[in-house]
Amino acid sequence: MKFLSAAAVAGVMTVTMYAQAPAPATPDSLVKAAKRAAGTDYAGTFLRICVAPDNEGAPGRGPAARGAAPAARTVPDRALWYAKPYKVFDNLYFVGTRIHSSWALTTSDGIVLIDTLFDYAVEPEIVDGLKTLGLDPRRIKYVLISHAHGDHDQGAALLQSRYGAKIVMGAADWEATLQRPATAPGGVPKRDVVVGPEGTKITLGDTTVDVIATPGHTPGTLSYIIPVKDKGRSIVIAYAGGTAFNFPRRAENFAIYRDSQRKFAAATAAAGATVLMSNHTEFDRAYDRVRLAPLPRAAGDRHPYETDAATVQRYFDIGADCAEAQRLSMQ
Ligand SMILES: [Zn+2]
Repeated sequence: MKFLSAAAVAGVMTVTMYAQAPAPATPDSLVKAAKRAAGTDYAGTFLRICVAPDNEGAPGRGPAARGAAPAARTVPDRALWYAKPYKVFDNLYFVGTRIHSSWALTTSDGIVLIDTLFDYAVEPEIVDGLKTLGLDPRRIKYVLISHAHGDHDQGAALLQSRYGAKIVMGAADWEATLQRPATAPGGVPKRDVVVGPEGTKITLGDTTVDVIATPGHTPGTLSYIIPVKDKGRSIVIAYAGGTAFNFPRRAENFAIYRDSQRKFAAATAAAGATVLMSNHTEFDRAYDRVRLAPLPRAAGDRHPYETDAATVQRYFDIGADCAEAQRLSMQ
């Protein structure tokens, strides 16, 4: 097939499409499929992993850029990252920055906190943000870490030591975390709840989060299926725990990533998820959506985060297709 021109390939496909299996996927055809899947809903994600995927070794990329403990604590200008906290669903509150998300899921027996930001943001965004929203940070019982990169986990040790919250992390990411020096930004949490490849369920009071192992972005990346309510109506959230391709550029890593996207897609479809969330605001437009959530809605208007099951599935098509495009391009 690769010796034929594009026009010839198109001709062959037209003639044979009902007689034979479809043409084998190529990197180009996969990126085109991902572009269709992205549409206007997931422009940021398509750009990040299909147009300009992270390159190991490129400036600002690779291990040093993964938030894995920079040499010295640096606090960027607050105006560049600080964001106000918002109540977004009946039982889910945004306490993240302009760039990274952190969420408080309230239950009948306390708070499940999801992702913890860089260490400089944990006090102003999570601790103070909860208080601003009328929630008590001492009620945090579980802290779910999607993956062990500093932009999501540096707040974990403080929440563990100050409030006694249990930290939940994938097994491989615990290993990476526990190797950090004690002087790492935010400190190092003690090993708590370790999640293996089979995943787990975290139940607090009346609420259960389905924790699904989705290795790829890191070996221990976890994604979540989260039940929430919007003015009393039940909605299921698919929370994608790791998206960018800033892992070592090897074919088997892209295969692992691809398979995790498909696995999580199937789990979220079975759960009836109609909301896609990510831990970076560029991937799910969290910064805009949390601001729209409190505004009045006309009767019958959907929550600004809610889409439909097919739109949620398209998110995982982008990841699977562009990971497979990268894997094929390496062969
Ligand atoms: Zn990361």
